[in-house]
Amino acid sequence: MTDFSITEDFPKTEIEFDQRFRDIDACYSYLASIKWPSGFICEDCGHKAHWLSSRYTYICTRCEHQYSLTAGTIMHATKKPITYWFKAMWWFTTRKSGVSAVNLQELLGLGSYHTAWTWLQKLRRCTIRKDREKLSGRVEVDEFFIGGKKSGKRGRGAEGKTIVLVAVERDTVQDPVTLNHFWKMGRVRLQVALDCTAFSLETFIHHNIEKGSTVVTDKLSSYRPVLSQGYRHVAIEPAHQKNPDSGLYGAHLITSLVKRLVRSTFQGRFEPKYLQNYLDEYVFRFNRRKSKSIGKKFMRIVQEVVKSCKIRKKDIQFDLDPISEYFSLGFCA
Ligand SMILES: [Zn+2]
Repeated sequence: MTDFSITEDFPKTEIEFDQRFRDIDACYSYLASIKWPSGFICEDCGHKAHWLSSRYTYICTRCEHQYSLTAGTIMHATKKPITYWFKAMWWFTTRKSGVSAVNLQELLGLGSYHTAWTWLQKLRRCTIRKDREKLSGRVEVDEFFIGGKKSGKRGRGAEGKTIVLVAVERDTVQDPVTLNHFWKMGRVRLQVALDCTAFSLETFIHHNIEKGSTVVTDKLSSYRPVLSQGYRHVAIEPAHQKNPDSGLYGAHLITSLVKRLVRSTFQGRFEPKYLQNYLDEYVFRFNRRKSKSIGKKFMRIVQEVVKSCKIRKKDIQFDLDPISEYFSLGFCA
């Protein structure tokens, strides 16, 4: 039943998706082709032959090791048919601004809002590839604040506010026809941070930006030690930061877009512990904004879901604990 021969295989349109993933067999087949692109291979003994149980468990014919395609992933112990998850992944990835929990509940006819909300939080955790390439070239780095009622002096350390670090590629490119130069935004990274100390900035920059890149920041002194080795550092005077031709224009633009998104998502009830999930989803969409293939985004999510680890209820929230792996490194532990 499984065709393992195709690699970059995804539905090109919604019609194609609906026709292809109507039944459970087709969904499990697709998960298998994503997990084993060159065909089934036992991780224990390397054997290639398998049986398929009636519950879609793949069993190695030599050592009888069993592989479930959903156990141990974000779909672990789900009571809903796999076709529901496929529909959710399709809507999540192909709608321009994603899908809300209310919409998902209605579209799938789920009994509870909380189930829809939980599914979306889990899918958000699958938007970031652990081995993604770092940003490079000219990268603007900045920090901004979200939430909190009290206004602090120019942001830093303002009480009750959540700090977000932003990095965005913005370079000049030349038009091959007119030979004019223009500014172009590249990929973006966003990370909730505990503070703006040199340690936090260093962790963020080292995890997200290729050595040798030009890092453009404001004049915050914490950046200096971080950027003394391996990066070219340009610190912009406050007066020039809004200048589209030099300053932190890209980082400021992302900042305002994210703030707008947070305002509309949380509707005044901002909860910092879920913020990173929403930032991850934003980055996923932003970095694929020019992709012409909607189905490819769906395939990317399925790839991450197959590799994902199960998320317990309490792990959906994002622990603002400095020793938490997820927090300090910005990805799933
Ligand atoms: Zn085996």
